[in-house]
Amino acid sequence: MSSARSLEANMEIAKESLKRFSSGPLLHLIGGQLVPSSSSSTFENFSPVDQTSLGQVAAGGPTEIGLAADAAAAAFGDWVSRPGSDRKKILHRVADLIVERADEIATVESVDTGQPIRFMSSAAIRGAENFRYFADAAPAALDGDAMPTSTHLNYSTRRAIGPVGVITPWNTPFMLSTWKIAPALASGCTVVHKPAEWSPFTASILGEIAHDAGLPAGALNVVHGIGEVAGKALTEHPAIKAIAFVGESSTGSLIQAQGAPTLKRVHFELGGKNPVVVFDDADIERALDAVVFMIYSLNGERCTSSSRLIVQDTVHDWFVDRLTERVKGLRVGDPLDPATEIGPLIHPTHCAKVRSYLDQAIEEGAKVVIGDHKFDPDSNFVPPMLFLDADNSMRISQEEIFGPALTVIPFSDEDQAVQIANDVDYGLAGYLWTGDAGRAHRVARDLDVGMVWVNSQNVRHLPTPFGGTKRSGIGRDGGDYSFEFYMETKNIAMAYGSHDIGKLGVSKS
Ligand code: NAD
Repeated sequence: MSSARSLEANMEIAKESLKRFSSGPLLHLIGGQLVPSSSSSTFENFSPVDQTSLGQVAAGGPTEIGLAADAAAAAFGDWVSRPGSDRKKILHRVADLIVERADEIATVESVDTGQPIRFMSSAAIRGAENFRYFADAAPAALDGDAMPTSTHLNYSTRRAIGPVGVITPWNTPFMLSTWKIAPALASGCTVVHKPAEWSPFTASILGEIAHDAGLPAGALNVVHGIGEVAGKALTEHPAIKAIAFVGESSTGSLIQAQGAPTLKRVHFELGGKNPVVVFDDADIERALDAVVFMIYSLNGERCTSSSRLIVQDTVHDWFVDRLTERVKGLRVGDPLDPATEIGPLIHPTHCAKVRSYLDQAIEEGAKVVIGDHKFDPDSNFVPPMLFLDADNSMRISQEEIFGPALTVIPFSDEDQAVQIANDVDYGLAGYLWTGDAGRAHRVARDLDVGMVWVNSQNVRHLPTPFGGTKRSGIGRDGGDYSFEFYMETKNIAMAYGSHDIGKLGVSKS
């Protein structure tokens, strides 16, 4: 595992793996070929560590999206009509190759995003697991139901919807892209992937792996580019039947509007401002570990981070004292250092946004605790932040910061805890800590979110539904929920020959 290797060893792997990205522009993968943009235009990809250039990337636009959509449409007929067992075999091969290249993927991802290697190593392996899970599910993807009546046998079948677009964000790009692309391919769809422009590298590695695994040309296409240009063109293309999108809620709104003229089916995994509610009857030592982990891991750049701690007043002071110690003890540093717990944030623009909440917290009257380490204000490093004595109306309690910043809000009873937890525009995940089983079920029932973890941090089980309510998303992923999105269900009603058929046009005879 890369996380166990020294910083120097990880740097060596990164140096080797990154060479190719600086030797010429990173190209699109269209119809099985690596191609530049027709205009030859490129954009630069910068390191979050020191903002040096990591290389040029081809900047796609409507032309490249058009070519990729055509390639995906041409590949669809063959791919969808193959037996599920064929798709299973190829997708398992993809998983095998991800495992073989996991160290390369993890180090490239870490350098490209600033995410600590300790988390990226497992994220690369999670990518392989996503492919394995959906590979195994591929043979049964067509299965429908039978609903017989006294006169008809109704049965349903499913078929992949067609070429689809996948648009992903920069926070854990490799893992998230596999989470979307694996079920799409397993169902028989072909894909045009538009990765985030701030972290484009591992999408190209996945394209390469898919090619090496024997995926037919055009089944997975990767078009790099800016969201408002390449992403927009993808959402508007008439050959693309659906868009699976992971990103900000405001971008989701834009995509819904862009896709409306072509009646795109959309699946959105969007932002979150997730509550973790801690009652005084909980195992609060474990709750403390989980609270710290779920906001300060992955740089806090995590849609399911528990960014609002709603803690019972009776244990508030105990909790806050220990949280303060933990925040001061967090290790901020080079993402390739296995000891690093928080790396640099992805981009100066995002960094400025996250830092602005420090001023915002002070302005709103919260007490602010920050990590002790020194950082250069011009770098992408930010200190871990803890905002105390907050109330739920503050911006620090309502807005997705998407960085290592936790807002703490006290409550006195169960009703108030639920009311505070639900009083936000988002509804992705909720976390709940209590030793009372009845309370656990009541509060889990009443939280207006798509997923609740009780006495647990976020532990994913791939068949379970993943997604959010309110501004956190539309639809669910995971298990058969993913196939529901990527496939059309058809009902066939077969008459036994005994039902009445009304006779029209016989009144004159
Ligand atoms: P973003 O919305 O800015 O960008 C996401 C992708 O959309 C990028 O590839 C971008 O190029 C593209 N894009 C931008 N404008 C577009 C347009 N007009 N049309 C089509 N595509 C467009 O999001 P981000 O800043 O990259 O990612 C952070 C966000 O992602 C956070 O809000 C986070 O909560 C969310 N996220 C959600 C989940 C989830 O599962 N719910 C998971 C990870 C991240």
